[in-house]
Amino acid sequence: MSFTFDPSEIKVPSGHHIGGKFVELAGEEIEVLRPSDLQPMGTITDGGDAAVEQSVAAAKKALVESNWAGIAPRERTAVLMKFADLVEENAEYLGKLEAMGSSRLVSMTVGGDAVRTAGVIRYFAEFCDKVEGSVTATQENTLSYLDFEPYGIVGAIVPWNFPMITATWKFAAALAAGNAIVMKTSELTPHSLLALADLAAKAGVPGGLLNVVNGLGHTTGAAIVKHPDIKMISFTGSTQTGAAIMSLAAQSGIKPVTLELGGKSPQLVLADAGEMDAVAKRVAGAFMVNAGQVCTLGSRLIVERSIADELRERIVDIMKAIKPGPTWDANTDFAPIISRKQFDRIDGLVQQTVAQGGSIVQGGNGLESNSGCFYAPTLLENVSYDNVGFTDEFFGPVATFETFDDLEEGISKSQHPVYGLAASVHTTNLQKALKAADGIEAGMVFVNQHGRGPEFTYTAGGFKGSGFGKDMGREGFQEFMRQKAVWVNYA
Ligand code: NAD
Repeated sequence: MSFTFDPSEIKVPSGHHIGGKFVELAGEEIEVLRPSDLQPMGTITDGGDAAVEQSVAAAKKALVESNWAGIAPRERTAVLMKFADLVEENAEYLGKLEAMGSSRLVSMTVGGDAVRTAGVIRYFAEFCDKVEGSVTATQENTLSYLDFEPYGIVGAIVPWNFPMITATWKFAAALAAGNAIVMKTSELTPHSLLALADLAAKAGVPGGLLNVVNGLGHTTGAAIVKHPDIKMISFTGSTQTGAAIMSLAAQSGIKPVTLELGGKSPQLVLADAGEMDAVAKRVAGAFMVNAGQVCTLGSRLIVERSIADELRERIVDIMKAIKPGPTWDANTDFAPIISRKQFDRIDGLVQQTVAQGGSIVQGGNGLESNSGCFYAPTLLENVSYDNVGFTDEFFGPVATFETFDDLEEGISKSQHPVYGLAASVHTTNLQKALKAADGIEAGMVFVNQHGRGPEFTYTAGGFKGSGFGKDMGREGFQEFMRQKAVWVNYA
């Protein structure tokens, strides 16, 4: 089925979503543009302290009135399941809204992101009654147990690259654990999360448990981090912002944070990776998907010397064959960059890489377009370890290419001094795959694929400058609860 659509026909929500309904608040106006053609999509206001204050008040009221943390866990499951059903019923609308406002292609959002959003809500809904503490060994007449409890009100701040899915990992886990949540959308892609909040209210999630506010990072984002009644912060975004949030959280009541940050992830390709065309397709896809705007992007190709020339040639052929176009055209296979500012940043880093001694194998320029910002898939080589092309995250369709001679050298070249988010190893040799998976310092290692694919059952999270704490999985659920030790003397 083709989902090509006319963006003028899609209803765009407006306002903040607080206490179960849309709320208009005064504040600096921010115009949101569609990345495909840079035409206006809607205007939001920077909610700031007022929006966060109202959200916290709504959250407190909802927690008391619904007794959300105290009802039988299966009752929470039932409410969240209804929410998931409504998301699935509205998958076409949500998928189109997502595609219109972000760099996600409609071919990937309607049957992909939107349906997966419902899946993530169901996944966490099933955790409600699977919170299991433990009883620890003690002397007689003593009971010692460790229990989990929700924080109360938690906060979350999300980026623009997968607006619905990234947000759902957080709010679905937070709600399932018995919390209320105050979330800030990205100022570049606010609309799909607002639509989700509205569906939550329509499905019977008590108004005030899921509050979505719009605004800028240093104002509205900071207001969430600083608010004394918000007890924990779950953040996804750049390493630089993550550091600022950690610092602010430390000054605002020592509140716990989880940080899902940037990456510079290697793809280690061994000579025995398999049939060359299939390997080239897999490796190229891993740095071109979403026009490179993926945190786990496989942006450093480290290839065994004996296949390097042939693989590079085939990757370049794939790079030349892209079909850029609007996200709402189902035939488009290469996405726009989210904004002019991000386009300039990518191009600036590429030119700096060259000025510092790197060379361009392919790309290195913007693509002709009379509308949005499209950047050509770009492959760079001769990039030394003090070059910005190695030290900095492009967050665009740009990869570096280097070679290695033996596995030990390949593993060593895969390490990055700052980042440790993800890595992939491409080989048909199990022993080498496992050695590389053990040796590479990254929070996620993929073998013979790069990225998670449609499944979402394992935890995501990085090492080092890529952050700490997890999204998804049991660990991602437990991030939204705190552990309490109880010691009972019944002698
Ligand atoms: P960003 O850090 O600029 O912004 C992320 C969010 O933080 C936005 O909502 C922004 O408004 C807010 N923010 C900015 N400054 C803030 C402040 N001082 N206080 C509070 N909030 C603030 O990131 P971005 O450009 O939106 O996203 C791209 C980055 O996100 C890349 O580095 C990418 O690797 C990373 N990312 C990581 C993951 C992951 O799971 N590890 C997933 C997606 C994106």
